[in-house]
Amino acid sequence: MDTNQSKMLFDKAKKCIPGGVNSPVRAFGAVGGHPFFVERAEGPWLYDVDGNRYLDYVCSWGPGILGHAHPRVVEAVRKACGGGLTFGAPTAGEVELAELIHVCVPDVEMVRLVSSGTEAVMSAVRVARGFTGREKIIKFAGNYHGHSDGLLVKAGSGLMTQSVPDSAGVPAGYAESTLTAVYNDEQSVRRMMEENSGQVAAIVVEPVAANMGVVPPKEGFLEFLRRITKEKGALLIFDEVITGFRLALGGATEYTGVHADLHTFGKIVGGGMPLAAYGGSREIMSCVAPLGEVYQAGTLSGNPVAVTAGITTLKILMEDRGMYRRIDTKAERIAEAFCKKGLTVNRAGSLLTVFFTSDCAQSGMNVANYEDACRCDREAFAGYFHRMLERGIYVAPSQFEAMFVSDAHSEELIDWTCEAIAQSVARAQQ
Ligand SMILES: *Cc1c(COP(=O)(O)O)cnc(C)c1O
Repeated sequence: MDTNQSKMLFDKAKKCIPGGVNSPVRAFGAVGGHPFFVERAEGPWLYDVDGNRYLDYVCSWGPGILGHAHPRVVEAVRKACGGGLTFGAPTAGEVELAELIHVCVPDVEMVRLVSSGTEAVMSAVRVARGFTGREKIIKFAGNYHGHSDGLLVKAGSGLMTQSVPDSAGVPAGYAESTLTAVYNDEQSVRRMMEENSGQVAAIVVEPVAANMGVVPPKEGFLEFLRRITKEKGALLIFDEVITGFRLALGGATEYTGVHADLHTFGKIVGGGMPLAAYGGSREIMSCVAPLGEVYQAGTLSGNPVAVTAGITTLKILMEDRGMYRRIDTKAERIAEAFCKKGLTVNRAGSLLTVFFTSDCAQSGMNVANYEDACRCDREAFAGYFHRMLERGIYVAPSQFEAMFVSDAHSEELIDWTCEAIAQSVARAQQ
């Protein structure tokens, strides 16, 4: 596979963009080699600047649930562009999108549109603090909530009481108010809630974790979070930037039956444009300015073009209720292909991750939290990644990401993917 143009562009990019990319994982740092530069995309396919074609299981890290450049979405966006790109004044589309989100996720009675998932979670946390008058939050190691200062924190090794920031440039003060618990470990949460009694504003969680690879909640774990937050007067925030409109139209609440106080959305809700949202009950969201005291604003918030992409995408999803079953079944077939090779696979709906755990041959090794995920053989993953890429199949260039299946992945392409897996993994294990 010739990728000279990409290589040249990457060399050029590295001179004017840090690491040559505008978001770190894109640089292929975890798997080696250089990224391909995309020229265009259509349906399940990405085309690079050298004329290669890749079957895409990244789908822009989640938004592409309908595949790329869905004709109806593109047409609606074209039309919206003709009417002006941004006004900084209210539009009917914003009301329509807010209503659609409420129809899909009834707990979200009021919603605020923002431009990125980072902004959505950062703002939801601010609302939780404003509403409760408390400062601390609890998050989980291996859960990603965007790159805002207060959320770039995971557990220090061993004991989880010491909070240290993951990134340089984050004042230690921020990390001090972010406590990190162990995903799927009720005891770690209970202890933290007790030690910080009356100080915890919210527990923020990926209801199905998908940023340490896919790690579904153990039975009862989300119910426990719901119970303990209610008991202790804290809010429960579901970060649904990935799970929203992905696991089901009603996101994690429909999928698990557990209700949260605040939900954050991103990725799919913007239909491929920079749009995200946060919302919850009318009572809680009434804290947000100009109605309440929690300030949050955005020049491009509710951008008319992005809103159009979001509305059109949600409408397509709402009209086609069979879609979720279709993509889930496809993901299940891919998961089976990995299982046949004795690898550990976690799957929730159309999200899945194969874990190259060192004892994968024994199978059954459970990845239930960040520590488990960290035990994976990253070199084995990198080998598998490149063998898939050589065959023209693009999976996320990191062990700790999800594989996203879209409605544009046909059954035939799933067959082909399963064969490629059988071959790519067989070679890995020789
Ligand atoms: C991607 C993601 C974010 C951040 O969203 P951006 O749009 O990249 O800022 C936050 N939370 C979760 C769960 C995500 O997957």
